Amino acid sequence: MEKVVIIGTGCAGLTAALYTARANLHPLVLTGTMPGGLLTTTSIVENYPGFPEGIDGYELMVRMQKQAERFGAKVKFGTVEAVKLSQRPFVLTVDGDPVAAETIIIASGAGHRHLGLESESLLERKGVTYCATCDGALPMFRNQPVVVVGGGDSACEEATYLTRFASTVYLVHRRDKLRASQIMADRTLANPKVKPIWDSAVTEVLDVKQDKVTGVRIKNLKTNAESVLDCAGVFVAIGHVPNTQLFKGVIDMDENDYILPKQGTATNVEGVFVAGDCSDHVYRQAVTAAGLGCAAAIDVERYLAGLNK
Ligand code: NAP
Repeated sequence: MEKVVIIGTGCAGLTAALYTARANLHPLVLTGTMPGGLLTTTSIVENYPGFPEGIDGYELMVRMQKQAERFGAKVKFGTVEAVKLSQRPFVLTVDGDPVAAETIIIASGAGHRHLGLESESLLERKGVTYCATCDGALPMFRNQPVVVVGGGDSACEEATYLTRFASTVYLVHRRDKLRASQIMADRTLANPKVKPIWDSAVTEVLDVKQDKVTGVRIKNLKTNAESVLDCAGVFVAIGHVPNTQLFKGVIDMDENDYILPKQGTATNVEGVFVAGDCSDHVYRQAVTAAGLGCAAAIDVERYLAGLNK
């Protein structure tokens, strides 16, 4: 039986792994389908303390994993398919196999929010993408106009990154003001290749018949006027949804499915703790996720020490 199973290897999961490993709890750390989490899809991370020149997101996560493994964390490629939290020890089904655990830290993070258009899903990977760092340099986008949807830091980051490859980057936002932090917004709008399209929503990605992206249909939300914008790619950057479906109905969540901790990082199920973006819709930073991972590890350590008294 595992003393602690950590679900997720983003900043929260790997920091929890480091701390529980150093507490001799030999954590089993499960990667899920995206080892390293969402940060691996970011280019340069400029706001993680300790890296004055910034650090590549993928490299940061590789370093975190190595640091946790150095102290005995067992990082395993595997996806949790089911959890039984009504019995002790808990039982997780990982790629078909049962794993018994005394405690669990849920650090399953969040995934990309989709626009919810049928044409968007039909053209995914055929020009519709959720990650400029992963796909921006593909030949299909080079020297072509592309569209970024969204108005937050992610959209600004994607748009700025894409100016390296695309001829024009249309930033389509549903309001007339960016939500992004001032520094990111200023940097993005100052880039001559970025053309903002305000007060507008993408209503259809074209062209499903051709089986590739050739443009988007756009609606101006103030005038209701519709237009078509030619582009070779659509980069959707409209925020995230927490990866918490596995725990629905058992672990307390808010109306948007973010896990609600009860006290510190403890959830409503004794022995189950939570950390990072799957429970945080406010700060959502690499450094806050890491901090919460540390807190969850300390809470697990104290909980297990209390059981053994
Ligand atoms: P976000 O801040 O929640 O912004 C999402 C954006 O998408 C908003 O502008 C929102 O519009 C728009 N949006 C949401 N749903 C939409 C829909 N259905 N259709 C069209 N537009 C929609 O998400 P984020 O940009 O991913 O950022 C998440 C967190 O990560 C933030 O805390 C951010 O600071 C952080 N982050 C930091 C960095 C960095 O510092 N390097 C980079 C990326 C992200 P409204 O504005 O109208 O709500």
